[in-house]
Amino acid sequence: MNYKEFIHPEDEAAMRNLEAVPGFDAVARFILEHYTEDLMHGLYMAQNVRLSPTQLPEIYNLLPPICGKFGLELPEFYLTMDPAPNAWTIGDKRKFIVITSGLLNHVTDKKELQSIIAHECGHILCRHVFYNTIAMLLVNFGESLGFGKIVLTPILLAMKYWQRRSELSADRASAVFIGDSDVPCRALLRICGGPDNLTKDINLHEYAEQAKSYYALLANSKWNKFLQNMAVMNAEHPFAAVRINELLSWTGNEQFASLKEAIASAEVAPMCPKCGRRISTKAKFCKFCGSILKGGR
Ligand SMILES: [Zn+2]
Ligand SMILES: [Zn+2]
Repeated sequence: MNYKEFIHPEDEAAMRNLEAVPGFDAVARFILEHYTEDLMHGLYMAQNVRLSPTQLPEIYNLLPPICGKFGLELPEFYLTMDPAPNAWTIGDKRKFIVITSGLLNHVTDKKELQSIIAHECGHILCRHVFYNTIAMLLVNFGESLGFGKIVLTPILLAMKYWQRRSELSADRASAVFIGDSDVPCRALLRICGGPDNLTKDINLHEYAEQAKSYYALLANSKWNKFLQNMAVMNAEHPFAAVRINELLSWTGNEQFASLKEAIASAEVAPMCPKCGRRISTKAKFCKFCGSILKGGR
């Protein structure tokens, strides 16, 4: 699936703004040159549980069909022990999806977990992942890399603004894979930490109305807009009500209906369960990593 068919226009616009921030180019280039994928891979391997067809397969096995439908190579998939419900994807050539144990505790069924994984795959599809990696490195190490606050602050603010917009596109990818908006919306409430007994009964349309009141408040006066922008300036995720409102209105249109049809009928491209590269259906061995494939031997 081509991300241009569903990317949120505010995501695209925010990305262009970010690229235009003075110094962004130089900082991104510096990170691109010094970023070491092997180090990142090593750290993830050492600190987390790497999921596989033989390691917590009931979670791992949800990933390949989603990548197959979206036409993505398999990223590595990790579980990190952290009580906060969260999921993210970073990397460059090699991508890593991470979910927290806290998220698994909040998710109630397979469909919700699929929708969360599809959201992360949406970030890969929309080419968000490398910029997210730059953001993570800048937040954690920006000053120790020698970038002064004067250069870093506007980049980080533009980056966080873009990250909040990028969530809207990834939410769309999740809805396209699942085929409706209800599951991704409830999964989103779960990521916010809402317990199942409350979130399952929340009226999503009424909740989305709150976003409309919020927009009305922003439009009300420049001062309100300024205060609200100050309040969210450092947040990486947009308000849940705003995301749910965006998703409900987008999934009501024809573009969503045709994309969801296309994904439902798309063939799942066969891929090696070990290295995630595309393979031919008849292959007995993976020509990339040499592992024996099902039906081989
Ligand atoms: Zn996201
Ligand atoms: Zn392989």
